[in-house]
Amino acid sequence: MPMDLDSLLREKKFTSEEIDCRRLEIRNTVLDKSRYVTEGNFERIHNRDLERLYELYDERFFDDRIRATLAARGEPISFRLSSRMTRMGGKTVRTTYRIPRGRKRETEFEIAISETLLFQTFEDIEREVVVNGVTCRDRLDAMQRILEHELIHLGELLIWNDSDCNAHRFSGIAARLFAHTHTKHQLVTQSERALKKFGITPGSNVRFRFDGIEYHGVVNRITKRATVLVEDRDGELYSDGKRYQKFYIPLGMLETT
Ligand SMILES: [Zn+2]
Repeated sequence: MPMDLDSLLREKKFTSEEIDCRRLEIRNTVLDKSRYVTEGNFERIHNRDLERLYELYDERFFDDRIRATLAARGEPISFRLSSRMTRMGGKTVRTTYRIPRGRKRETEFEIAISETLLFQTFEDIEREVVVNGVTCRDRLDAMQRILEHELIHLGELLIWNDSDCNAHRFSGIAARLFAHTHTKHQLVTQSERALKKFGITPGSNVRFRFDGIEYHGVVNRITKRATVLVEDRDGELYSDGKRYQKFYIPLGMLETT
């Protein structure tokens, strides 16, 4: 008789050998079945790969109880690789809405994982990459670690209606099921890459060309691209009393001055 999701989250504990073994089976299945994820440091990935990873985790770590619980409640879940998430590794969102003129509330879930962070990690910055306290050997490994964290959020939302990865309950589940010791990722962020590879950080003076014209400005913010402020009397007024025009420039196009 399999455990229900509630007892599984409260009680189930795997040894580190069991965890390693299950993770490896999942990894090998993905590498075997995916059209895109054919090596640990894959260059392309599809939302379907994320969904497959979820199914395998549900099977090997949650006795299929996540999908069973969602199916029993008629609550769908979808998966998305996000290019806009530049700081968070993953995100689990529950949306509840009322059907027009109906009394029923409908609930759906979405798990998003940052492909931006995944792709710029294990790329041109070489250092140890730790996610949730566990060292990752490559992109697929890091992606598994992020999804493990999000699946605990999902499980908590399903059973307790709330989820907080800084709370005791979460860290207990994360330790028992996945041997996570922290809840942070150390994937390579744009700011780190900007600094290490291009020597650029917020406040840097830079020069760049845009539509054939050379501009000089100051880096204000770094996300996927850098936000560069260029003094311009027709520009927007900023808190330092000056007016600036704002540009979004790929890091590789900036030169420090
Ligand atoms: Zn979290």
